[in-house]
Amino acid sequence: MSQEIPIIEISRVSKRFGDKTALDDVSLSVRKGEFVTILGPSGCGKTTLLRLVAGFQTASEGVIRISGEDVTRTPPHKRPVNTVFQKYALFPHLNVYDNVAFGLKLKKVPKREVETRVKAALKMVGMTDYEYRDVDSLSGGQQQRVAIARAIVNEPEVLLLDEPLAALDLKMRKDMQMELKEMHKRLGITFVYVTHDQEEALTLSDTIVVMSEGRIQQIGTPTDIYNEPVNAFVADFIGESNILNGTMLRDKAVRFCDRDFECVDEGFGENVPVDVVIRPEDLYIFPLSDMAQLSGVVQTAIFKGVHYEMTVLCGRYELVVQDYHAFEPGTRVGLLVKPFDIHIMKKERVCNVFEGRMIDGGRVEFLGCVFPCPHVEGVEAGGEVRVEVDFDRVILLDNEEDGALTGEVRFILYKGDHYHLTVLSDWDEDVFVDTDDVWDDGDRVGIAIPPDAIRLIPR
Ligand code: ATP
Repeated sequence: MSQEIPIIEISRVSKRFGDKTALDDVSLSVRKGEFVTILGPSGCGKTTLLRLVAGFQTASEGVIRISGEDVTRTPPHKRPVNTVFQKYALFPHLNVYDNVAFGLKLKKVPKREVETRVKAALKMVGMTDYEYRDVDSLSGGQQQRVAIARAIVNEPEVLLLDEPLAALDLKMRKDMQMELKEMHKRLGITFVYVTHDQEEALTLSDTIVVMSEGRIQQIGTPTDIYNEPVNAFVADFIGESNILNGTMLRDKAVRFCDRDFECVDEGFGENVPVDVVIRPEDLYIFPLSDMAQLSGVVQTAIFKGVHYEMTVLCGRYELVVQDYHAFEPGTRVGLLVKPFDIHIMKKERVCNVFEGRMIDGGRVEFLGCVFPCPHVEGVEAGGEVRVEVDFDRVILLDNEEDGALTGEVRFILYKGDHYHLTVLSDWDEDVFVDTDDVWDDGDRVGIAIPPDAIRLIPR
């Protein structure tokens, strides 16, 4: 393989705004001509990453190179990139032609050349007949085409697109997605595209970069990301998934939903807790028979346009299943999954772990609070301890004042028979909680930890 220099190379970049870390040690390499999509939920740092590449913001740490040249501190207009924003930011007092020509005129490009380039750019976005129209008289989709023409008329090496289709209605968005993909092919330049819409990312990209909380979770092709998510976050974010707690019994054998299954994964060890991911379309559903690996009762069946989506209660586990045929709620059904379609993921953690300090024999400080705790031998006051708390022993409270500390629910994962929550404490450290209670993203909560839930391990 050729050792081509990446067109964009982001090396160990972090960005802080005051106390807030928007990007945490991010590294990413983009090949020339690639269509790369940065995908993640609101607030994960994707716009910040794009703005660092554009030069609208400067990294707190790390280096950004474009075509091998260090541009970490280069101002935006000296970088070979152009940005298309969600809000088209067109000049309302200029017509389509003059909007597209604006940058070229500023650069004092000769008039004849301006004309040729503007016409070519408008042709590229399918707006040839609109040159003298007021931009206000255009639809959202047409305005975005003009905004794209205005960006590509500068012949950038890289086009940065920040949720460019977010303001359009669904039909227009789908049409524009196809057009963008075509445009990318025809232009042959590198596209870096930001979206929170996983379907858009899967449709458009050569490579998807999944982000969460300022960190890259996975980089891969759409099929890699969909079929082989590296963790429960990615699996949950990319499409509908059943994500369950399981135990890897040994190579090629896993236990979940209270039964043993054959799978294809190896190398996890024996009796190791894992996350098991099964896509709803990989669960076969049929009238209950001997073939069934799991049996259950259909709870709901919703028509989704092409297929039906059903929830099936198997013992205490609720699984989502997709099929072209509907099974009515109340029907007893069998489920089957092929070994190849059972995806096993290493658990990132099996319990909460905090850094703690003993106050005295019965109290320990962690997460910025003092908690009563069991007595631990061999640790003096002031001594450092590792504090472990099982996920299902953390208590969340409606009333913030009732907790030892407070926080905000950030991420909710349904695991078939309970919810696994990530709660960002106001101490700025995550607390992970297993609960049967239903919480919403963004809920403010009190956090309590009973003394007998605290395990202390001397350092
Ligand atoms: P969205 O899709 O909602 O735009 P995003 O993934 O693009 O989200 P960013 O806009 O990059 O996220 O923001 C990442 C984090 O950094 C957020 O918590 C945000 O509040 C914070 N942030 C971004 N810009 C600033 C700023 N100028 N000052 C302070 N905090 C900021």
